[in-house]
Formats: sequence, C-alpha cells, structure tokens
Amino acid sequence: MDLAPTRAAALARLAAFLPAAGRRYAETRNADDGPRAEGRGNVSQLSPWLHAGVISETEVLEAVLGQHSPRAAEKFIAEVFWRIYFKGYLEQRPAIWADFCSGRDGAVAALDANAGLRKAYSEAVEGRTGIEAFDVWALELVATGYLHNHARMWFASIWIFTLKLDWRLGADFFLRHLKDGDAASNTLSWRWVAGLHTKGKHYLARADNIARYTAGRPEGALDAARLAGDEAEPLTEPQEYARQKLDLPAPVAAADLAKPFALLLHDEAAHHAPLALPAAPALVIAAARPEARSPHAPGTHALAFAKGALAGGMAEAAAAFGCPAVEWRAGEPLAPLLAAAGVERIAVPYLPTGWTRDALAPDLATLGEPGRVVTLLGDLDRATWPLAKAGFFGVAKAIDNLLAECAIHGGAVPASTRS
Ligand SMILES: Cc1cc2nc3c(=O)[nH]c(=O)nc-3n(C[C@H](O)[C@H](O)[C@H](O)COP(=O)(O)OP(=O)(O)OC[C@H]3O[C@@H](n4cnc5c(N)ncnc54)[C@H](O)[C@@H]3O)c2cc1C
Repeated sequence: MDLAPTRAAALARLAAFLPAAGRRYAETRNADDGPRAEGRGNVSQLSPWLHAGVISETEVLEAVLGQHSPRAAEKFIAEVFWRIYFKGYLEQRPAIWADFCSGRDGAVAALDANAGLRKAYSEAVEGRTGIEAFDVWALELVATGYLHNHARMWFASIWIFTLKLDWRLGADFFLRHLKDGDAASNTLSWRWVAGLHTKGKHYLARADNIARYTAGRPEGALDAARLAGDEAEPLTEPQEYARQKLDLPAPVAAADLAKPFALLLHDEAAHHAPLALPAAPALVIAAARPEARSPHAPGTHALAFAKGALAGGMAEAAAAFGCPAVEWRAGEPLAPLLAAAGVERIAVPYLPTGWTRDALAPDLATLGEPGRVVTLLGDLDRATWPLAKAGFFGVAKAIDNLLAECAIHGGAVPASTRS
C-alpha cells in the first residue's frame, strides 16, 4: 500500500478501499489484523490524509455514497462523523486542549523528578511491560505511525487502568507517533477511554476481547494477561468544561478574494484541492509546524508524513495556480512574505483548536487590520460543529440531514490531477 503523504496516494487508497466501505466494514472493522504491506482490508487507513487535509471528509463521503447506499455504509459514514464531532466538540471547549497541554507538561516534569515513574514510562513506550499485546502495539506504533482503532482503545485503557500512568503522557506518546495525530480525536478519545469525556463511563480492556479481535494477526492472537479488572474506577477531574459559543466564519465567495491574495497551507490543510477555492491565489505559503505537537520530538513517521504532505501540497498548489510558493518557517514573521509578493490578504484554512492554531495564530494576529485574514471553513464542518454540543448522539441523529444540507449524495473519486 502506498502510504506516501500525497493526494495521489490518498485517492488511490480511497479507490482501493471503497468496495469494503459498506456492510463489510460494519461486520469486520473491529478486527486488528496487524500491519500489512498491501494495507488492512477491513479499515480505510485514510486518517493520516484526512488529518493533513490532503483529502476531505466530504470527498470521502461522496465517494462512499457513490458506491454504497446510505444504509449499507451507515457505520463507515458514522465513523467519519466521529472525527468531525470531536473537532466541533473541542472547538466549543478549547480549555480541554489548554489543560491537556499544561497537564502533560506537569506530567513530563514529574517523570524527570521520579526515577520509578520514569522507568515505568520507559517500559511502556519501549514495549517492555511484559503485557504482550500492549508491547506489540507500542512497537508497532513507533515502527509504522499507525494503530488500529481497537488497538488504540485497548492500549489507552491498559496505560491508564493497568499501568496507572498519567493519561496525558499516553496521549502525548500517540500524538508524537501517529501519522494521523490529531488534537481533537486524540485528546478526546483518551478522555473517553478514561471516563472523562462521558463522565463516569470508562473503557476497560479485556483479555478475551483482545484475543478474539487480534486472532487474524500474522503472529496470531495477542495475549493480555493480568489486566485491571472491572473494579477499576473511571478517572475524575475537578474541572467542568462549559461550552463556549462557536464563532464560525461565513462561506467565502470570489468577491472576498478579488484582490491578490496568498493561500496559507498548514499541517491540517496541506493541499489546496479539498479547499475548493473560489479564486486563484497569487502566492502559496506553506507553514509546517509538526514539532509543535509535543515538548518531545515527534516520531519519524509522523514527522515525515506531516512535512511530506506540506512540501507536496505546496508544489502542487504552485503548479495548479501558476504562482510562486514560499515556506513560512517557525520563528520568522509572516508580514514580510506578504509584502515581498505584493499581496495584502491571506486566505487561511480554519485553524482548529490544537497545536496548529497555537503555533500560527499569534503571528496571524499581528497582521493587524481586520479583513486581511480570510478564513476558509468547509460546509460540512460549519453545519456539523454546532451539533457537537455534548454526546455524539446529537450529530449521529442528524447525519442524513447534514449530508442533504451539504449536497453530499454520492459521486466518483476525484481525479488526482484535479485542482
Ligand atoms: C485513544 C485513541 C486515540 C486516537 N487518536 C486519534 C488521532 O490522533 N487521530 C485520528 O484521526 N484518530 C484518532 N483516533 C480515532 C481512530 O482510532 C482513528 O481515526 C482510526 O483508527 C483511523 O483509522 P482508519 O482511517 O483506518 O479508520 P476507519 O475505520 O477507516 O474510519 C474512517 C475515518 O473515520 C474517522 N474515524 C474512525 N474512527 C474514529 C474515531 N473513533 N474517532 C474519530 N474519528 C474516527 C477517521 O478519520 C478515519 O480515517 C483515536 C482513537 C483512540 C481510541
């Protein structure tokens, strides 16, 4: 399977996976059959490209509905909406991300100060705990940059309830190594496993469940003896995260981009095609900040994917629009890049809560004058995020309406050369 961080590879993977996106996905998606050169047969593995904005949820849903009825593809469609739900939820509670970052920094400092804790942490991230399944996944994550969803749930559960390590260190380990490492899906999934997202409802890994759903791995079913039992209590925290009102940008029309403008590509919007810009930019600016995801260095695969997606996206945008492209490096001011190209405005794909916003928003704010920054947000996010108020159910029950509202009825996989 071509896991290159390119749009061509994303579209090829989408096309290859499509036949399995219907009932087969619903029936087989829970099995962790292990990494395979040809790609896993039962899940799409599209998440790295989705996270990087190399392909959009809308494009994936269009293609799936082009081959399957909404009922047959119900489960797959719902999973794609989980991603959008988590984004919308965190957008309405950004303090969860801020508290995660400060809590993680505190947990890292505690590691430095406590040799016993440091040893337990090292054993976990180096796959030396003696719990076979957990150790296999720790090594697999570092070696491949991907874990199956079920493996992520079991891993997080064992980390929190059996190894009793700080959940924020585990979430940080995932963010550093996952090619799809995403502030919303990752932080909120770890919180969900811990019993913090749905208060009091935690996820406990069980050895029989792990053995059953890992039986198709090349090495056979994974063993997970001595896990925390049903008596393990969910985590609690003193904070109550009140929902703050969303302030979403209006759809952008060609008139908003009538004057020469620059297009900013970033870690979560690395390709221009999913943005469907109503006008052509005079300059492409690429801002890669993958190191901002953690105080620790990112893993090789996560880093290479993020950097490759932006380098490729920058080159393809420059070619598609016939304009120059520049890199906006960390620590450099943005304004001189705009001035040198003679452009006033910059079109910025929405910076979601997380490290991408933390790294880029302060510089964008220094551009001064309102109106210089034109924020781009897709229709599907604009329609779905307001529904991500509490549990997923609020989104789930609206999926048919959301698809209709966003005119997602089913189409072909986009051609890789399309701009
Ligand atoms: C502890 C934990 C941490 C996670 N961290 C991340 C993360 O950093 N980034 C990330 O993208 N996903 C994360 N997930 C969600 C999920 O595991 C991955 O999105 C999924 O495994 C990606 O593989 P896939 O593309 O083959 O998914 P498929 O099963 O093929 O699903 C299609 C798409 O739907 C979305 N999706 C599927 N399941 C979920 C889910 N449970 N939550 C949110 N979106 C989902 C993804 O975008 C995925 O590409 C995490 C889950 C857990 C339990």
